[in-house]
Amino acid sequence: MSIVKDFLLQLTLMIIPIFSYFTIILEKVKGDRSIKMIMTLLWGVSILLCMSFPVEYGEGARLDIRFIPLLFVTLYLGMWPGLFLSALIIFYRLASGISMGFYSTVLVLVITLPVILYVQRLFLLVKKDRKVTIAAGLSFLYCLCGMTVFGIMNGFSTTVLKVQSIHLLFTVAVTWFCTVLIEKIRETHQLRLEVQDAEKFRVISELTSVFAHEIRNPMQVSRGFLQLLDEPDLPQHKKEYIKVSIEELDRANEIINDFLAFGKPSLNTYGNINVGEQLKRVITLIQTFSVNQQVEFKSDIEDDCWIEANPQKLNQSLINILKNAVESMPDGGTVWITCHPSGDGNITLTIKDQGIGMNPKQVDRLGSPYYSLKEKGTGLGMMVSYQIIRSFKGRIRVESEEGVGTEFVIEFPHIEM
Ligand code: ADP
Ligand code: MG
Repeated sequence: MSIVKDFLLQLTLMIIPIFSYFTIILEKVKGDRSIKMIMTLLWGVSILLCMSFPVEYGEGARLDIRFIPLLFVTLYLGMWPGLFLSALIIFYRLASGISMGFYSTVLVLVITLPVILYVQRLFLLVKKDRKVTIAAGLSFLYCLCGMTVFGIMNGFSTTVLKVQSIHLLFTVAVTWFCTVLIEKIRETHQLRLEVQDAEKFRVISELTSVFAHEIRNPMQVSRGFLQLLDEPDLPQHKKEYIKVSIEELDRANEIINDFLAFGKPSLNTYGNINVGEQLKRVITLIQTFSVNQQVEFKSDIEDDCWIEANPQKLNQSLINILKNAVESMPDGGTVWITCHPSGDGNITLTIKDQGIGMNPKQVDRLGSPYYSLKEKGTGLGMMVSYQIIRSFKGRIRVESEEGVGTEFVIEFPHIEM
């Protein structure tokens, strides 16, 4: 029984870094370099534990899968992390004394590491299935190499060969399983990001017609005044006409700017931004969108509201929430928007409407994919907004009552400027 336990422990040691990467590290850690470093350390710990608690088999045979973390780190993170972990394996092995085992460890690493480095570039380019084959193939090669080196050093015997065959099977199977796992989760993760973009472009196309109309308005006003200025009997309010024309053109320009800012492809860059400023921009944008519905916007936004976020993504999430607020009031109403530092180290944003509201069950389902009560809804807006806000370490609370309205309270960690 204890041998099964040992095998399970080894397997668990592989799975923990994979899940930590996709659930915690990718969400919380910013910057590729930091992620690389943390992952290398995590896999390093996993190697040390693997080597400290190997599977004890038969007479003194010990078996571990330290190679798998090394393989993944080299394939996914590159040469330096790979070399670092190789050094770690060698030094840890050295700590338990120089023996035949130590030499064979070094020899096998010296032979296999260059091979892994050689296929690494190719590995990153190929499709999922090929990746699985390559990783499993490299594992097979490593074990085979280990068996040969051990055989040459100690002579071949059937008992040893049996243990080594089990080692080979286990290592290859775990490599195969973990690569499939990594690639599957990566695929899902990628899909999530793509949904964010797709939803953004859907909102853009929905807003485009309204914008075209909104831009045409100021242009027509300016055109009218220019025509008046051309009248032979000079108009009295010449200065006034010019002023209004310029204002209208500025307005058109602003609308275009806001629209472009929203449509820009979002890079994954974070920075210190003033949510208040962004909120004001988003409100102007959504005001244009809801110009034909009797919706009034009242806002109370303080100046000092700095948070760490990506402005385009933040805007995208705020637009989704404001758009829902407008859409929840088919007969018009008021949307209240506030933004201020709340004193407990957070910035609090509230968006409150007088719309149809939701019952507690509906509030619970908010943010799940494809949940929509609208005839032409996608049910992705809230999901994307939630994802984005959480990625900026934000928290969302929703209070809603049917027939009364809905309030979104969003909190972000405040950055002192
Ligand atoms: P969509 O707007 O495409 O339906 P969302 O994910 O933006 O998708 O919203 C999901 C659902 O949540 C909406 O269909 C609506 O029923 C409900 N909802 C969201 N915001 C509000 C709100 N402010 N008031 C009432 N219901 C809302
Ligand atoms: Mg919506």
